[in-house]
Amino acid sequence: MLYAPQIGDSIDSLDTPSMIVDLDLMESNMSKLFSQLLPTGVSLRPHLKTTKSATLAQKMVAAGAKGGCVAKLSEAEVMCRLGFTDVLITCEVVGAAKVGRLVELFQEYQGVRIVVDSEEGAGAIDAAMGVSGVEGRIATLIDLDVGLHRTGVQAGEPALKLARYVAGLKHLNIIGVQGYEGHLQHVHGLEERKRQCLASMEILTQTAEALRKDGHDIQVVTTGGTGTAEFCVTVPGITEVQPGSFLFMDTDYRNAIGPHKYAQSLTILSTVISKQGPNIITIDAGLKSLTTDSGFAECKTPGYTYGVLGDEHGSLSWEDGKAKELKIGDRVEMIPSHIDPTINLHDVYYAHRNGVIEEIWGVDARGKVQ
Ligand code: PLP
Ligand code: MN
Repeated sequence: MLYAPQIGDSIDSLDTPSMIVDLDLMESNMSKLFSQLLPTGVSLRPHLKTTKSATLAQKMVAAGAKGGCVAKLSEAEVMCRLGFTDVLITCEVVGAAKVGRLVELFQEYQGVRIVVDSEEGAGAIDAAMGVSGVEGRIATLIDLDVGLHRTGVQAGEPALKLARYVAGLKHLNIIGVQGYEGHLQHVHGLEERKRQCLASMEILTQTAEALRKDGHDIQVVTTGGTGTAEFCVTVPGITEVQPGSFLFMDTDYRNAIGPHKYAQSLTILSTVISKQGPNIITIDAGLKSLTTDSGFAECKTPGYTYGVLGDEHGSLSWEDGKAKELKIGDRVEMIPSHIDPTINLHDVYYAHRNGVIEEIWGVDARGKVQ
């Protein structure tokens, strides 16, 4: 008999490690964010780098989102081919191979949007579009550095100069500005995060205004993540926010923004496979199941400390009498410390309600980092 989990099965029947989603918690995260942000009139374009799932993207559109963001061109290819075609690629598309793929994608799906932060980058895309003979102009946003210092042109004269250059290109059509304040998402303390976010938003909205005065038709001003979207939407001139992690959360985000806003709705179900002492056991989830760049995962049941024992193994230890003794064959749920790269380690989500599998989703764009 082949192993093939089905809708209606109990999560107890899943092999491990398995990525499982508590639907009640995920839906509550979604309705919390949507009901807080949508009434402001600002569009929600969730970042799909977190879920990498076309099904979840469609669910969010059904709940009121306007399209989605992807980080990379190869994620856009997957989403478009699965029928989710309103995507903004939030990373610069640079290099001959990627630009060639972009032109091919645009030939099929004109809803794709891009960002540019250099004349070299924008010029190369324009040239490739010209050579291909493709019709239409690709919707382009000027990517602005609002303090993250990762990508983005500097505000002021450099942004104006780039926009003038792009406006002179035949195949690119400036529709807006992106300014992502990624360095602020995990600032601890709501007031401090808000203060710094509003300062970044000022750079963004002032640049949008300066570009308008210079003759550009700036329709979209896009920004924001899970930690800041609620502040971004209060700023006049912001038209769109891009949160991603809110759907599932992780311990790193919880430590920054607090445990009460969004629930930990995704866990990695694991099995105790060995006992190494009275207070320490080994589980089957190591580096290939849970990422460690933002600290170690946590056991959903309090009282245990996780440690990494290699690619395939982790340990859980506990103090005498402070937690239930774990035995071989017991199963535990581990909460990821950083959600996006953890999801990218798994093929499938098993979405359950009260332990009964209700939906099974692919991690459609898993491994799509190009
Ligand atoms: N926008 C951009 C450009 C991003 O890179 C990210 C995440 O890194 C997000 C939005 C979503 O942020 P979060 O997952 O913190 O909600
Ligand atoms: Mn992340």
